[in-house]
Amino acid sequence: MTDGDSLQNAGPPATSLRRALRVLADPWTMLILKEAFNGTRRFSAFQRALNIPKQTLSLRLTHLCREQVMYRRFSGPGPGSLDYAPTAKALDLQDAMYAVWLWHQANPGSADILPFDIVHAGCGHVLGAQWCCTACAQPVTSATVEIQRTQPEQTESEPRPRLARRNDGSVTAGSDKDGLVAASVVGDLPCNEILYLLFQGPRHMLAIAQDLALGPGIVRDRLDKLMTLGLIREDAQGRRLIYSVEPRAEGFYPLLLAIADWGDRWCNAGAPPPELRLHACGAPLRGRYRCDHCGDWLSRDTLRIRPRAG
Ligand SMILES: [Zn+2]
Ligand SMILES: [Zn+2]
Repeated sequence: MTDGDSLQNAGPPATSLRRALRVLADPWTMLILKEAFNGTRRFSAFQRALNIPKQTLSLRLTHLCREQVMYRRFSGPGPGSLDYAPTAKALDLQDAMYAVWLWHQANPGSADILPFDIVHAGCGHVLGAQWCCTACAQPVTSATVEIQRTQPEQTESEPRPRLARRNDGSVTAGSDKDGLVAASVVGDLPCNEILYLLFQGPRHMLAIAQDLALGPGIVRDRLDKLMTLGLIREDAQGRRLIYSVEPRAEGFYPLLLAIADWGDRWCNAGAPPPELRLHACGAPLRGRYRCDHCGDWLSRDTLRIRPRAG
């Protein structure tokens, strides 16, 4: 029997999600991008808004610039005018950002964390939306998606970024009180990989560890975290414990798919996509949000962000 470490060296099967999360999976990254989407540009403004240590912010912005998600520019004369702006690659994450916002809207108690409304300018309503297949216009749920590995199978050549055995840090990034559940889960690579896998069907712990080439200690820790967040549950099946997603986690599925889609568009570095996602209608899945009120497909130029009244 191989132990966790040697499994990791063997290289897990490549997935679109993991390729994308190499760039995004850090407790701070989604929070920084969220601020950038809201119009924050200056280093000091990011620091104030996120209450993030200077050096941490500096490292993360450097990482995002290197990945061409953000870029440095001078907004006026003089070195004091240096700021950080999102690139097209960042703006293309819009569906993932809406998914985070919609998740927090749908989960009472956490709506205040994002103290702004997204309004659909087309119909004037505060955004309510479902992620739908652009081929058949039907909502995309985990039960209606089939994931196929493309041939020849690709394995992950680079090791994962160093994983913390425990990832308490990603729960508390931002601040202790704000409980940014969505960003906190997105910020942790194994949490996402486990959720993505469980959306494909229930599994027991060792099967998860094997499928993802993750050490059992890391899998155990993340399963506990996902249970604490109420996203998965544990059931006894004979002498084994199996894990499956809770209905409440379904709101996360568009977020994971939007990130996987983004990974296919930006992170394959010339290689073919490692997987093909098919919708129940038979079409390769291409999802977008549709407004609940008017049925139109959402795009960035039809949405407005406004501070929440009161
Ligand atoms: Zn479809
Ligand atoms: Zn609308």
